[in-house]
Amino acid sequence: MQNQPTSNNHEWTILKLLNWTTSYLKSHHIDSPRSTAEILLAHALDLKRIDLYLQYDQPLSKNELSRFKALIKRRVKREPVAYIVGVKEFWSLELAVTKDVLIPRPETECLVEAALRLLPEDSNSCHSHTQKSILELGAGSGAVVLALASERKNHLYFASDRSIKAVELAWQNAGRHDLNGTVNLFCADWFTAVKTGCRFDIILSNPPYIPTKVIPELQPEIHIYEPVAALDGADDGLSSLKHIIFRAHEYLNSQGSLLLEIGHDQKNEVKKIVETYENYQEPCFTKDYSGKNRIVHIRKKDT
Ligand code: GLN
Repeated sequence: MQNQPTSNNHEWTILKLLNWTTSYLKSHHIDSPRSTAEILLAHALDLKRIDLYLQYDQPLSKNELSRFKALIKRRVKREPVAYIVGVKEFWSLELAVTKDVLIPRPETECLVEAALRLLPEDSNSCHSHTQKSILELGAGSGAVVLALASERKNHLYFASDRSIKAVELAWQNAGRHDLNGTVNLFCADWFTAVKTGCRFDIILSNPPYIPTKVIPELQPEIHIYEPVAALDGADDGLSSLKHIIFRAHEYLNSQGSLLLEIGHDQKNEVKKIVETYENYQEPCFTKDYSGKNRIVHIRKKDT
C-alpha cells in the first residue's frame, strides 16, 4: 500500500481520505468505489454519509484512521459492505444483517410487491373479514415479512427460519420497526412446525435456489461470506422449491397463493413442477427490475 493513511500524517482530512480510498478500492476492482469509501468512512466516524461533506476538511484522529483502515481491509478481502456496517436497507427499512443471513436483495422487493397486490389495504378493525393470514418460510433477516407487516399492519403474520440465529435477528429487526406484536417468528425447517389443519391465505418464500456447483462461481462477496445454506438449492437448484411446492397446498386456503422467488433461468422447470400437482392452477410469472422471471405466483384451486 503506497501512501496509505498513516497515524502521524496530519494531512488526512475527510476529503483527502475519500479520494485516496476511492482510487485504492478501484485498483482492487471493488464495485462502486466512491460510495463504498463514503459508507465505510461515515461508519468509522459514526456520521451520516451526507455529513462527511459538511466536515470535508476535518482532519482524522489516529483512532479514527485505524478504525477506517480496518474496514477498508475487510472490503478489499471482498466482505460485503452490509456485513461490515451491519445493516442493509430493504423496502426503506433499515435492517440489521449478520453472516447468519442472506443480505436482502433488491429483486426480492418484487416478492413483497407481489404479496402486497394480494393484500387489501388496512382497515380500522383487526377483526375485519378482509384480514388475511400470511406465512413466510426461510425469513432470514425478516426483510420480506417485515416489509409486508410495515405496509399492512392488520393482517396475521407468521415467519420461520431453520436457523435460530436468523430468527433472533429477525426478532431484533421486528423490534427496530415496532413490529414485534405484528409478526410471529419461530424456528423451524420449512413446514415442520406448522400443524396439520393450519391454513394460510398466502405462503411465501425466497428459498435457496442456486445449483450447488454454481456457488463457487458466484462473486466472492457471495460464496465466501453469505450463508451457503440460504443459497444452495442442491444439484439442480430446485430442491427447496420442489419441497415447498409439494407441501404448500396442504396449508393453503382454497384459492390461497404460494409466492416464490426463483432463479432467473428456472421458469420452465418451475412451471413443469407446478403442473405435476392437480391442486394448483396455472402458475403466473413476474419479472424483476432487470427483466428476469423472478417471482412465481401459484394459486391453489377451489377445494
Ligand atoms: N438471488 C440470490 C443470488 O443471486 C440467491 C438467493 C437465493 O438462493 N434465494 O445470490
